[in-house]
Amino acid sequence: GRTAKCFVCGSKAVAYVPYLGEYLCKEHFIEYFERRVYETLRSFKLVAPGDRVAVAVSGGKDSLTTLYLLRKFSGRMGFEVFGVAVDEGIAGYREYKLQALSALAEELGVRIYVGRFEDYFGITLDEAVKRLKEKGMEYKPCSVCGVFRRYIINKLARELGATKLATGHNLDDEVQVFVMNALKAHMEGIEREGIASATVGEGLVPRIKPLYFITEKEVLTYTLLRGIHTPFVECPYIVYALRHPIRRWINAVEDEAPGFKYRILAVKELSRKKLPEAPEGAQKCRVCGEPSSKPVCKACLFRAYLDPGFA
Ligand code: SF4
Repeated sequence: GRTAKCFVCGSKAVAYVPYLGEYLCKEHFIEYFERRVYETLRSFKLVAPGDRVAVAVSGGKDSLTTLYLLRKFSGRMGFEVFGVAVDEGIAGYREYKLQALSALAEELGVRIYVGRFEDYFGITLDEAVKRLKEKGMEYKPCSVCGVFRRYIINKLARELGATKLATGHNLDDEVQVFVMNALKAHMEGIEREGIASATVGEGLVPRIKPLYFITEKEVLTYTLLRGIHTPFVECPYIVYALRHPIRRWINAVEDEAPGFKYRILAVKELSRKKLPEAPEGAQKCRVCGEPSSKPVCKACLFRAYLDPGFA
């Protein structure tokens, strides 16, 4: 067929942008993408001058893009940036992603701090999964992994003096998590997963999501055009995640009915407005003292559950 042309300048298009309903060339796609993230930061007041922003970086395309752009805007907007990463102990996966991360961090002149599952919880995720299997997979690897990871990231960011914690969640992530929460009728989860944390307890660093309105495909296009590299390795435990089939389903519907994801995001925002506020980290965990919504935090519950001495 005919080659599509950029609607701004008429040169060869590299991507179709559903949000604009138009094709863009390399130069104008990069410009559109960066402007959109910049405007998200500005209009939702996600950052303020003087902020110390910790970027939670996994080494995947979303977190690398978030790090890259926050670094780029930090001078103009007057905030500082550093990265916090987690080494879960997943052989054949994590080491490659961390390599991609340190390469970019070096190029950008950004410091990265790494917290290891082993140091905080005395167990790697690989070992934890072995125990989960022995116990009949009552809990899925991603549940333990997510709880441990959030714990380390928050603690590390706070101890480094972060005033904001930026994550790489994109529009697809937000829509998938909303659908999963809705299917489980997990209303608190829906209320909490906004573009920025509403109310957080003492000791919890407020989270922000600069890529909230950007689709996964747009992030992928951006990283390819900008030359931000990440190896194509997948976590071996992704097969256990419910997230996987939900993602495939949403993408299949999107193909049939373009705009589906934006409509789900709109439903999500409407639902969140109607829900009562669910403050996070209002209590302190009785075991470790970290912020928690229950008397004992989930990380301490999992730590006890995975202990060989636990029945
Ligand atoms: Fe952790 Fe699951 Fe992600 Fe693997 S796929 S890194 S187990 S959350």
